[in-house]
Amino acid sequence: MISFSSVQPSPAQNPTATAAASTATRTSLLPHHYHSNKLSFIPPPFLQPADLSRRHYHHHRIRAIDAAQPYDYEAQLINRFTQSTKLKIAIIGFGNFGQFLAKAFIRQGHTVFAHSRSDYSSIAQSLGAAFFFDTHDLCEQHPDVILLCTSIISTESVLKSLPIQRLRRNTLFVDVLSVKEFPKNIFLQFLPAHFDILCTHPMFGPESGKNSWQNLAFVFDKVRIGNEENRLTRVETFLDIFKKEGCRMVEMTCAEHDKYAAGSQFITHTMGRILEKLQLDSTPINTKGYETLLNLVENTSSDSFDLYYGLFMYNKNAMEQLERLDLAFESLKKELFGHLHEVLRKQLFGKSEEIPRLVLAKLPKNGTPLLPASKSETVVNNNS
Ligand code: NAP
Repeated sequence: MISFSSVQPSPAQNPTATAAASTATRTSLLPHHYHSNKLSFIPPPFLQPADLSRRHYHHHRIRAIDAAQPYDYEAQLINRFTQSTKLKIAIIGFGNFGQFLAKAFIRQGHTVFAHSRSDYSSIAQSLGAAFFFDTHDLCEQHPDVILLCTSIISTESVLKSLPIQRLRRNTLFVDVLSVKEFPKNIFLQFLPAHFDILCTHPMFGPESGKNSWQNLAFVFDKVRIGNEENRLTRVETFLDIFKKEGCRMVEMTCAEHDKYAAGSQFITHTMGRILEKLQLDSTPINTKGYETLLNLVENTSSDSFDLYYGLFMYNKNAMEQLERLDLAFESLKKELFGHLHEVLRKQLFGKSEEIPRLVLAKLPKNGTPLLPASKSETVVNNNS
């Protein structure tokens, strides 16, 4: 097991990661009453304002300026330090999407700690994040935010495996899963009441958001946020990351999200995966519409099957959408074949012509079930 200190780059190699590491180490050296009794906390000389939660800073500064200040002086002071606050964000699950998010966090000056089942230490180092093989070591750095970015299907076991007793008592837990009611429920089930919970879903990925996040939707639900100022500020600071990137911020409940997402995102992924199975090729005469389909296949196939399976398994509305899709396809075929009148069929195929068995099989005949048939199979039509 390699600890955090053994993977730290030298200052020359990676100043960001080193700064992150030293901030983390300093914070982990704080006395116990830092966590349990905020009023008795005295900031050590090495702790800079950016290291402090706004509440701690607020207590010590505001009490010193009680007298004769302009009306909004305190508010300005709070804002000044709130706006400059940088978060320590621990990304659990440093795969495709975790790394994608880390780049934006680091670009905006936040400190990123990463942990994953696989060894991403060199990728983390190249991005300016500190990689932890051991979640105990990571939690002891007291991140402000634990961001769950694992596959939907592994989330519950990953969450249960975290040594949350090593975290600060009101740490903010965030998830970015593509389904929302499921993580909300497991957070509420497994996290003690003193942890804050924010459920989010960036409605874009490394492919669709590779150039910019401008106007891309970011869904969030503040499931449980303590009402102290520093906790309210911390959640806003986290949301600000996405606002600053230009995202369209959409606040809605997890249940609403799952309803919309089943009818939009799950359908999109399903269509992409169906088309992928057709192995569509680009042609010299591609239409714009066809190009769109090829792009859809490319977008959806770059996501893992785990992700797609998670959209199905962990969104209770997905099954209904799958059935609707099935019905829609059947109804469309019936509509097409219903127009294929008997006379027209005779005109088209003649009396003794060979009719592709597939076509015959699919024609609605007194409600008989539709038969599967291979594309190449043909049958001599003696009936028409
Ligand atoms: P994913 O296949 O959904 O998840 C991959 C991540 O899950 C990796 O970090 C992987 O760790 C981890 N993981 C998988 N199985 C695990 C297990 N049994 N135990 C521990 N960790 C496990 O692909 P993704 O695209 O990176 O998505 C991550 C999360 O972001 C998902 O919840 C997804 O719904 C959400 N999301 C993705 C997108 C997107 O466009 N990709 C957009 C919005 C939200 P290792 O790599 O270390 O094995």
